[in-house]
Amino acid sequence: KRAKSSSLKWKLFRAKEPLLSVFMWGVNHSIDQLMHVPPPGLLMPDDFKAYAKDIMPSHYKVKEYCPNVFRNLREQFGVDQYEYLRSLTSYEPEPEPVEGSKGDFFFSYDKKFAIKTMDSEAVAELHSVLRKYHEYVVEKQGKTLLPQYLGLYRLTIDGSETYLIVMRNVFGRKYNVHKKFDLKGSTVSRAASDKEKAKDLPTYKDNDFLEQNCKLHLPAEAKQQLLEMLASDTAWLSNMHLMDYSLLLGIHDCDRAAAEAASKPLEQTSEESADELAPTPPDSPIPSTAGAFPAISGGPDLDDEFYAISSSSNSEKPLVYFIGLVDILTYYGMKKRTATAAKTVKYGSDAENISTVKPDQYARRLVEFITRSLS
Ligand code: AMP
Ligand code: AMP
Repeated sequence: KRAKSSSLKWKLFRAKEPLLSVFMWGVNHSIDQLMHVPPPGLLMPDDFKAYAKDIMPSHYKVKEYCPNVFRNLREQFGVDQYEYLRSLTSYEPEPEPVEGSKGDFFFSYDKKFAIKTMDSEAVAELHSVLRKYHEYVVEKQGKTLLPQYLGLYRLTIDGSETYLIVMRNVFGRKYNVHKKFDLKGSTVSRAASDKEKAKDLPTYKDNDFLEQNCKLHLPAEAKQQLLEMLASDTAWLSNMHLMDYSLLLGIHDCDRAAAEAASKPLEQTSEESADELAPTPPDSPIPSTAGAFPAISGGPDLDDEFYAISSSSNSEKPLVYFIGLVDILTYYGMKKRTATAAKTVKYGSDAENISTVKPDQYARRLVEFITRSLS
């Protein structure tokens, strides 16, 4: 009977790639299992080492790491279990090409969640910081710019293993991003390639940011909150000896968005507004999450846009910024030290500016870069 019902479900998760089918199946199975047991009142040390395994039809396998921990993290970050399930399994996630990334990257169909492939070192690193990470998230009540890790899975397809991490998407769902930066606070070898710049939505880097004379125009309260969160988050990262992470910055241009909407065919516009009127089916209301930054009255509706900040009135035009930290799982170990030594020889006194400095220097340099960009 079980086999029958699972093969039935299996059909529901047919996607272009087996990887995505197995992922959707795995998420569905995991949430289904968790729904049958109440969450433990308190997480135990063993929860941070636990895993659940499941074998599916056609010998596909799913291993979910620390299910209780990630269930609790979802709660800390205000992600409802049904919301998670629905976003990841109603339709298949869409691949998103990213330059310079070793792995593959996907967005859930509704853009709420980002899904990234990881190597086994990153999986090991995440395990080694998971208790401290959880502790920090609880302490901050979810108000942090660190990646919001929501689920970690290993999928086995035809004998080959893929690790996938689910995070909250830094960028907006309602507000598409018109410009994108990946900032590390370093100016050595930090410019987008010509090939990258030719894209519709290139990922610009530190030198492009300076060249374009980009400034962040934030209201005083949001500015203060951003700097406090950055100081606290980067201090935590330094404590964990993590570095080489990036601050991801997306900019939504409200005037440009209005012009784009006006030039859209009518049909599409009406379909979208209908969607906006009923974002969630009425039978399952999902609480929206408060964001990391204070909302300003009269500004754009930033409900459910965790990483969004509206520009202040001294901005030339109304903008919405999206700011979050990504790619935090690089441990400053032997490998880094060798790279630092090599680069010091190559760049000499410019060593401060190199991407591979010690974690505390790295943190300081990034915070200083962002502080200088605030107007
Ligand atoms: P595996 O699940 O064996 O494919 O593990 C992938 C990587 O994560 C390996 O480098 C493991 O050492 C690491 N890893 C897996 N589970 C744990 C755990 N409970 N604690 C620490 N590291 C782990
Ligand atoms: P990474 O491999 O983590 O350096 O990520 C490569 C690119 O993926 C980044 O430059 C971003 O464009 C994108 N990215 C990573 N994490 C997220 C996230 N949580 N939300 C949105 N985009 C992300």
